[in-house]
Amino acid sequence: MSFGISAHESGHAIMSSKKVVIIGGGLAGVSAGFHLAECDPTVFEKEAAIGGLCRSFTQDGFTFDCTGHLIHLRNPYTKELIPRILPDVFDAHERRAAIYSKSTITPYPFQANTYGLPPEVVKECVIGFVDSMQAGTNGGPKNFHDWVLRTFGTGIAKHFMLPYNEKFWKQDLRTITADWVSWSIPKPSLEEVVNGALGLTNKGMGYNPKFIYPKQGGIDCLPQALARPIRDVRTSQSVEYIDPRKKYVRMTSGVEEPYDYLISSLPLPVAFRMLKDTPDTLVDAAQKLHAISVLNINLGINRPNIHDQHWIYFPEHQYIFSRVGFPMNFSKAAGPEGTSSMYIEITHSPVEKMNVEEATEKSISDLQTCGILQHGDAVLTRHIIDLKYAYVVFDDHRQTHLQNLIDYLETRDIYAAGRYGQWDYYSMEDSILSGKKAADAVAARINIS
Ligand SMILES: Cc1cc2nc3c(=O)[nH]c(=O)nc-3n(C[C@H](O)[C@H](O)[C@H](O)COP(=O)(O)OP(=O)(O)OC[C@H]3O[C@@H](n4cnc5c(N)ncnc54)[C@H](O)[C@@H]3O)c2cc1C
Repeated sequence: MSFGISAHESGHAIMSSKKVVIIGGGLAGVSAGFHLAECDPTVFEKEAAIGGLCRSFTQDGFTFDCTGHLIHLRNPYTKELIPRILPDVFDAHERRAAIYSKSTITPYPFQANTYGLPPEVVKECVIGFVDSMQAGTNGGPKNFHDWVLRTFGTGIAKHFMLPYNEKFWKQDLRTITADWVSWSIPKPSLEEVVNGALGLTNKGMGYNPKFIYPKQGGIDCLPQALARPIRDVRTSQSVEYIDPRKKYVRMTSGVEEPYDYLISSLPLPVAFRMLKDTPDTLVDAAQKLHAISVLNINLGINRPNIHDQHWIYFPEHQYIFSRVGFPMNFSKAAGPEGTSSMYIEITHSPVEKMNVEEATEKSISDLQTCGILQHGDAVLTRHIIDLKYAYVVFDDHRQTHLQNLIDYLETRDIYAAGRYGQWDYYSMEDSILSGKKAADAVAARINIS
């Protein structure tokens, strides 16, 4: 069987008895395995199924992902790879995203679509933007808060950027660096801001104006397809420790596996806690990497077409969630006929234990307040996922220590891959490419040793 993979997918002819072990069976791990399939790697995944953040869950006829997982392809390699391993699987969609604030829905991105908000808000946004253009730059932005004010001006900052991001990141935005925003937050021109204030459309702004999503089932078809050529995938196997000197990994089940090269897609703080004989300074530095968690509440509702958007952002603090999405607007097959489904995203600090029952009740009541849920709507099913590692925080500590940590692993023949292995703001595409990059590095080592 070819699995849609060419004989030498990674471009390396691998003739070796070297053992490659991959820990973590999310997208990055299975991508590494896919690209090293000829090497016969072993993948260890702690959950009962592979997929990590790209798992999908079926419950009472509804399919839920971990919040929304929509594929945006920018890289020529993945643009070719994904339709090849999953032919005729996806539908293409034009993003329909919005912001709900001041009891009004405006199109995303806020900064280029203020029409419809109260006139004094629109005026503040436009004047603030013009003022920010006229202000001298005087060095680079000191932090994310500063970047927001300089880039968008006081009005857009006050009415969306600061409240939304404070709610999302749960911390003072002055403690966050501005090095992650270059591609992820659309920066409009003056013409776009003025167009948006007058109600003239600014179509397709930002990194994700179009996306693809499976016609049937959930996003987990992607990790499943990448895992197909890997012969040895072991689920329900949680790594207990890594011995980089004797070169083996031990599972909590007692299973031990020797390796020549290890690819780790585990979150860096987790990987460093497991790594034997490692300087305390590095273990400490890894523990101080900071991420934000997400409580994801998925609901099935007894009314069709509950909303026409794909997702909506909520910057205001009275709403518990920062984003709500509607999976059946990307795939009708995500729920039974005559129903709708929703995903709710509530960010929280990883040390904060959320009261799921209270958060669900507050979410439902907030959805009623803003008119998304109406009188007579009933919740048919609820499915809750708490994602401990969701969004990496870009701060000074990360900037100072990250590369040292990754480099140290490499000196121990351990290649870090993926969103939390590289501790970065990786999309699914980035995580697949990161798994490939680790596979290529290992293949190069094997070929020269
Ligand atoms: C809320 C949210 C929404 C997102 N939406 C999108 C989107 O719309 N589009 C997009 O392109 N990207 C999106 N992403 C990003 C995308 O999910 C990631 O880039 C990608 O899934 C990361 O894959 P990974 O393999 O690096 O990490 P993970 O998926 O986290 O995989 C790591 C794996 O390691 C396993 N593991 C952990 N500890 C152990 C252990 N001790 N032993 C063995 N295994 C272990 C975990 O169980 C997991 O399976 C989103 C991310 C989040 C958090």
